[in-house]
Amino acid sequence: MQQTVKKRNYSRKREAILKAVRSTTCHPTAEWVYQQLKPQYPDLSLGTVYRNLTQFKNDGVIISVGTVNGQERYDGNVKPHTHFVCSQCHAVIDVPGEFLNNRHIQETGEKMGLKIESSDVILHGVCSECLKREI
Ligand SMILES: [Zn+2]
Ligand SMILES: [Zn+2]
Repeated sequence: MQQTVKKRNYSRKREAILKAVRSTTCHPTAEWVYQQLKPQYPDLSLGTVYRNLTQFKNDGVIISVGTVNGQERYDGNVKPHTHFVCSQCHAVIDVPGEFLNNRHIQETGEKMGLKIESSDVILHGVCSECLKREI
């Protein structure tokens, strides 16, 4: 009986973590997710958040944008799109479209004898908010 309750509570947290990542386009860190859910789940630990995010990532339910300013950023939007990373405020912004020519990638792979399985373009620069602040 105790086991069932524990299990249900665990999966509720799991769902809440996934929902939190999907509810935002800010490409959150594990810390952000933890802070969002802490009031509702006081016994939640940052380790649990990390573990679940890694699991979701491995399952392909969410993606990792990579490490920005020392922290891994996650994305609930798994449809193909490109990321822009602001070098000043570290915002991660979605940019529609893909900036890679798939045929070119395949040709390069063949030329170099590589089996290329995936590719990522990350645009770097200063976001519009930071540009506004500079004026
Ligand atoms: Zn910025
Ligand atoms: Zn994104």
